[in-house]
Amino acid sequence: MPSSMALLILRRNLHGRTSSLLQARVFSRSPEAAAARQRASEPKPVEKILVANRGEIACRIMRTVRRLGIRTVAVYSDADAGSLHVRSADEAVRIGPAPARLSYLSGASIIDAALRAGAQAIHPGYGFLSESAEFAQLCEESGLTFIGPPASAIRDMGDKSASKKIMGSAGVPLVPGYHGDEQDVDFMRSEAEKIGYPILIKPTHGGGGKGMRIVQSANEFVESFLGAQREAAASFGVDKILLEKYITRPRHIEVQIFGDKYGKVLHLNERDCSVQRRHQKIIEEAPAPNVTSDFRTHLGQAAVSAAKAVKYHNAGTVEFIVDTASGQFYFMEMNTRLQVEHPVTEMIVGQDLVEWQIRVANGEPLPIDQSEVPLLGHAFEARIYAENVPKGFLPATGVLHHYRPVPGTSSVRVDTGVEEGDTVSMHYDPMIAKLVVWGESRSAALVKLKDSLSKFQVAGLPTNINFLGKLANHWAFEDGNVETHFIEHFKDDLFDDSRHEKEAYEEAIYGAALVAACMCSKENSYFREGGNGLNSIWHANPPFRVNHCAERVFEFQWDNDNDGTGSKLLVLSLIYQADGQYDIEVEGEGNSLGFHVKVTPLVNRDFRVEVDGVSVQVGLATYEKDLDKHIHIWHGSKHHHFRQKLGQPLFDDDDSQHKPSFEMASHPQGTVVAPMAGLVVKVLAKDGMRVEEGQPILVLEAMKMEHVVKAPSAGCVHGLAVTAGQQVPDSSVLFSIKEYYPEQKE
Ligand code: ADP
Ligand code: ADP
Ligand code: MG
Repeated sequence: MPSSMALLILRRNLHGRTSSLLQARVFSRSPEAAAARQRASEPKPVEKILVANRGEIACRIMRTVRRLGIRTVAVYSDADAGSLHVRSADEAVRIGPAPARLSYLSGASIIDAALRAGAQAIHPGYGFLSESAEFAQLCEESGLTFIGPPASAIRDMGDKSASKKIMGSAGVPLVPGYHGDEQDVDFMRSEAEKIGYPILIKPTHGGGGKGMRIVQSANEFVESFLGAQREAAASFGVDKILLEKYITRPRHIEVQIFGDKYGKVLHLNERDCSVQRRHQKIIEEAPAPNVTSDFRTHLGQAAVSAAKAVKYHNAGTVEFIVDTASGQFYFMEMNTRLQVEHPVTEMIVGQDLVEWQIRVANGEPLPIDQSEVPLLGHAFEARIYAENVPKGFLPATGVLHHYRPVPGTSSVRVDTGVEEGDTVSMHYDPMIAKLVVWGESRSAALVKLKDSLSKFQVAGLPTNINFLGKLANHWAFEDGNVETHFIEHFKDDLFDDSRHEKEAYEEAIYGAALVAACMCSKENSYFREGGNGLNSIWHANPPFRVNHCAERVFEFQWDNDNDGTGSKLLVLSLIYQADGQYDIEVEGEGNSLGFHVKVTPLVNRDFRVEVDGVSVQVGLATYEKDLDKHIHIWHGSKHHHFRQKLGQPLFDDDDSQHKPSFEMASHPQGTVVAPMAGLVVKVLAKDGMRVEEGQPILVLEAMKMEHVVKAPSAGCVHGLAVTAGQQVPDSSVLFSIKEYYPEQKE
């Protein structure tokens, strides 16, 4: 098939192993290019680039920089001294302590690092300083090339209301709304009336979905408006607000654009990023499903007009909101940087966007015309986060005790910034990796996405992998019926396991039986190889016993990580058979299941396990934490997590007395612990103060999320010692609520 051949060439190219015809054509050293550079009197090609970022994006940028033969300089905070992005760079410079404000957001330290290291250019990645017009300007003033758009375009697009004015005059469709300077509350209410409810209130300088409020009717307007103003002032330092018609069933579709310094702007097709939680994307795809090529053309043209209106060059994204009821699209905002989800575009156009960024920043003209932009197959990206899904997607922290991403191929790509043993800290974004897959069609790509998610092994901290799997397997997602309320709309299917309780329980029992068999097999091979210097018949397989078959009892606590409903005790008894196989009986809630299991250990923590004649590949991970041994198993497309109390005897021959399951360390009633690691941004109560049930006590922030910690009951606040600006670890005690006795007061 010619198209897949072409793709193969392109794809190889993307991974930089083979140079291809297309690549040779792209950015060729043509006479025009040379002349263009001459005209612009550009500096000579860059030989060293500083990457002003961390994590996966720093690693991903350095991969391309290295491939181009350019030297790389990493910057790091004290929390990142041993991080993968530091180890991946030719040189690395410390820029400050852990808090981003003092390191990755410190423009002066980064410029200083670049000058000290002798870099000629800075790539800002995404987040941090990538959309700071001041930083872009500072780079240029220091004689460093900023690998990104002109400072003026960043400034124009950083203000949602100013950008809407520019877009409106350029003929780009806007959501009906008010984005003027007048901010008087009565005036705003009359504007809202004109637009018609429901209304969306947005801070003009906002980001990350913060401060936005939906207003359903006129009588809620004043309160919401004043609240949004306060939040905007506190979060962004500007309290200006704009009003928009709230679109009830929208899709988020964005267009990747690219401009060079000679006024040429292309679009590289669109991405659908509708599947969001907390207004943040978690699965993205390119191209958008269920749209016509006419729609694609119009959307692309609108994005190009938007970019031209601000004299854009380098990579950018124009975000649109699409009303599924009318099919009409509207400009939402422009992100003046490389986007997290850029790999799905790279997959369908077969190009390396970071290479394009560097070449364009270096004064090279765009090498192709709009008609030459490919659109090949379909790609998905799933963002794998350390987060607590049942707790409302709160960011999580912890050690990656076991980390084995699915292996990369020409159509499966994993962008990651961590390795096994690394810590996901509370200081930065808790994203662990991006899993990107490509297929010739959407359905072929989706099959790969599901398979890769089920094989992506992470243990040691909570992740959203199971949840992503549920999303990818949902019928409406399979149909491409995505919209921004997808997760909310299908929450019963995605969060509530009760309808499949019996099935899930039986699968867990099966998983537990496999774990028991693999653990026995592993121990036996360990002892047989003289692992601890012992080598006796007691450790033969089966162990030598007088008069009875060797039996061993396991107790596992099964944690259903999906629904957070607590854990269930599973008791397994395993009997060694003469042929080295195991008979396993599992006592569950009211039922007992039996399995006949044969284990063949493979390398590392992998096994081949045959159960009742069916053989499956199994991966196992174990680690110790909080007085428990944690065991994770990946078998077939399933993943299970069990805990075993530490100190359980290795051989438990005939002792069938089961001790009660281990209880997690608990606090006295009324104690409130931090639901996530984060920064205390506000303390709203005083120690000793009398409060009502549900009264907000303090506000925690981690990444782009604010979480209000409330009083669990009425009473007196006790032991409240945290102050604004303080970092608190996950599960640390914040305060407690004591019953209030009026007579004690007197
Ligand atoms: P995208 O549309 O590419 O997802 P976002 O605006 O959601 O863009 O943010 C991109 C990235 O920028 C985030 O994943 C995060 O790494 C970083 N980021 C955004 N806002 C913040 C913030 N307030 N603090 C730290 N990092 C941030
Ligand atoms: P941010 O800078 O925080 O990313 P955006 O303006 O891009 O702010 O909006 C973030 C998200 O909010 C969008 O992806 C979409 O889900 C939702 N949204 C924005 N505008 C509207 C609207 N007018 N109607 C409905 N939903 C909207
Ligand atoms: Mg946005």
